[in-house]
Parts: sequence; C-alpha cells; structure tokens
Amino acid sequence: MGSLTPEDLLHRCVEFHGHLCLGQVLGVRLALKGMELIGTDNPKEMMVFIENDRCIADAIQIVTGTRIGRRSAKLINYGKMAATFLNTESGATYRVNVRQVDPKAGHSPEMLRQTLHVSEAELLAWKKVAVSLKPEDFPGKPRRTVACARCGERVFDGKDVPGEAGPLCPSCANGAYYSVVEQDA
Ligand SMILES: [Zn+2]
Ligand SMILES: [Zn+2]
Repeated sequence: MGSLTPEDLLHRCVEFHGHLCLGQVLGVRLALKGMELIGTDNPKEMMVFIENDRCIADAIQIVTGTRIGRRSAKLINYGKMAATFLNTESGATYRVNVRQVDPKAGHSPEMLRQTLHVSEAELLAWKKVAVSLKPEDFPGKPRRTVACARCGERVFDGKDVPGEAGPLCPSCANGAYYSVVEQDA
C-alpha cells in the first residue's frame, strides 16, 4: 500500500466500514505509524494486535491488509485506542497508542481531515515492546486440534486446557459466555 496517500487509505476504510468517523482516521494513523516502525507493509510479514473492537479495528485491518480470519490480526480487547505491530521476519515489535483526542473536538469531515494530518508527535505515542507467542498463535495450518473430553466439540489451536479425563474446551473448563436455554430437539 506504499503508494497510497492517507486520503486514499481513509477512503478505502470508509468503504469497508460504512461511515467516515474518528475511528477510521485514528486507525489509518496508527496503522501507518506501526508499519513504518516495524519496517514492512506486507501483511504476510506482520501480525497486529488490536486493542479494541470498535471503529479502529476495521481501519487497522484495511490499511495493514492483516485479517482476524487469517490470524495476522488479533483482537486483544482492552478497550483502548492502541495496537501492537510485529514484523514476523525481523522480530521488530512496537505498540502505538493514541495520546489523546479532545472529546470536544468536532467530528465534521473537516475536523477529521485535520486529524488525518496532525503531527504524529501530537497524536501518537509508541514504544518498543515484546509479545510472546506460542507456535499455535501463528498463521498456517492448525498445529493442535483435540476433541473436548466433556462436550466432544473440536478445539483448534491449543485453546484446550488439561482436565482430569482429558483436554477440555475453554467453556467446559472455565464456564461459557452463554448459557444453554434449550437443547437441540
Ligand atoms: Zn466508525
Ligand atoms: Zn467442551
């Protein structure tokens, strides 16, 4: 995406996301800075850890070309305007966060365009970090797939946990985010 201007990238984000918003602008800025810091814009050479599931999550995936469904983007939902960019070839890893956005600042297209070009020192902060990853976290074929000893459903990518009668899926081991209302007839 090297030849595209920030405006071009924002346009792509808006097409995908469905509206122009501050999150698209911030996502473009975070992604451009992250790729600059790790020295690649090749989605096959990077992993991105996105720290919220709001508007910026779409923009960061569009600008970097990484995707949650390809395991090159990960959602780590801290509810923060930040993301960590990892170069899988060189190991360079940086976390970039939005310093502060004036909540009273308008969200008019003109204001958003200003934010697209405000100096990076004003808008962003970044630091070198390390992320420890298991082999199961990387893109590629699943390295570990087991059947849960309790519910029998298959668990991919080492998400199972040891249980007395064998590996358990996270919901059988720790409780689920849902409760069953009615079993299959
Ligand atoms: Zn939005
Ligand atoms: Zn289970």
